[in-house]
Amino acid sequence: MCALVVGVLAASAPVLPAQAFVPVQVASSGTQPPTDPLVGAPGLGDPYYPDDGNGGYHVEHYAVAIDYDPPTRTLTGTARLSAVSTQPLREFDLDFNGPAVQQVTVDDLPAGFASAGKHKLVITPALPILPGLPFTVTVRYSGIEADTPDAGWTISPSGGAFAAGEPHSAATWYPLNDTPLDKATFDLTVTVPRQWQVVSNGMRIRDEVNGPKRTVQWATRHPTLGYLTTVAIDHFEFLNQRRADGTPLISAFAPQAGSRKALERRLPEVLDFLESLYGPYPFESGGGIYVDTDLHFSLETQTRPIYAPWTDLNTVVHENTHQWWGDSMSVRHWSDVCLNECFASYTADYLWPERKEGKDVDAQYRMTIAKLRDNPKFWAIPLQNPGAGREFTAVYYRGPLFLHALRHLIGDGVFFPAVARFVQSHADGRASMPEFRRFVQDTTHTDLSGFFAAWLDASTPPPDRYLYPGSLHA
Ligand SMILES: [Zn+2]
Repeated sequence: MCALVVGVLAASAPVLPAQAFVPVQVASSGTQPPTDPLVGAPGLGDPYYPDDGNGGYHVEHYAVAIDYDPPTRTLTGTARLSAVSTQPLREFDLDFNGPAVQQVTVDDLPAGFASAGKHKLVITPALPILPGLPFTVTVRYSGIEADTPDAGWTISPSGGAFAAGEPHSAATWYPLNDTPLDKATFDLTVTVPRQWQVVSNGMRIRDEVNGPKRTVQWATRHPTLGYLTTVAIDHFEFLNQRRADGTPLISAFAPQAGSRKALERRLPEVLDFLESLYGPYPFESGGGIYVDTDLHFSLETQTRPIYAPWTDLNTVVHENTHQWWGDSMSVRHWSDVCLNECFASYTADYLWPERKEGKDVDAQYRMTIAKLRDNPKFWAIPLQNPGAGREFTAVYYRGPLFLHALRHLIGDGVFFPAVARFVQSHADGRASMPEFRRFVQDTTHTDLSGFFAAWLDASTPPPDRYLYPGSLHA
């Protein structure tokens, strides 16, 4: 994700970050593990969002079909989840706060269901599920979608809609195990009135008009997470491009976003650049979704980021860096979000300007430090484990400084191969900040423990030897 304010900070202006603009779901602290060993734990223990997900199964594939009528905002959906139980289950839950649920089946047998809390759908199968076995859950739901800008289903100026929000958004339009610990493949079939267009993640498998209706199917071959899935329904114009290796790049432009086509034409160049840093592009397709809604952020939805109207080249580089750092390799817990945002911001704010535009980024770094080292607010939020509700703050404005200092400390010849190997070795998986620290430490004889503690754990400026390592020393 990239916020509008980030660009200002990236330009080294002495502006302090605005408060996190993302509506924060306050983590409830009252989640207790169930005493019943046959009930999947309601929440997987994320330190910031302990209620997210369920401990009794993991999902392998989502097949979601929705019928959406823009004029009435009526969404009728069927979500079929292919899952594997990790324990005996007489009850489990999904995360869902979308339209009213009408029917749930487990292995095609009617199951009991009830809503609980803000986003839980508790399901009681007719027969308990044995541990280690595959099972399917089908949820049918229908109703009028609420407009939840920045946090899920969002109505666009034309009356269309799209889904976007981090860390939560998917539960507003389909039921899922909404945790970074459970990646799954995802395909989506959308039926709309024929004059509307539909774009989503991955590859477009079909686009058919039958009478008054259009049905479009999109599918991803790589596992993904809820907030990285999206659907957008609008009167889109499309731009079709290809990378030199043939990878299709499909981009969509809402009615007032057509002027962004020239920007999106640079996507092949952006992906080539990122590939030179981080290894092969991790997905089978790419592109972008340029909305014309007054959105406060752009978001790295998998293969096809959603771009707010203020998007510029920096944003395109940032969201596409996330395809490696955040999407293919996702966080283990939300406290690891520096893996996503420190790298996306460093790549867009430092590496692209340095390598593609000839900017003196060492000077940019020194100027930023000179302006902000004595400002306690700038250092107040740690990069690693920033705290629930503060995870989308310091990682944008201090993350690039951390990585630039690390690069100077260990040298380009160690830094670049190490970060590329790290992200590639976790493709289609997940990683944590502690793993990253161990991995980088293993690549060098330099003891990094003091450096990492000063830059990642502290909430005060690092000492000079860590602020100005190597040739950064004035
Ligand atoms: Zn980001």
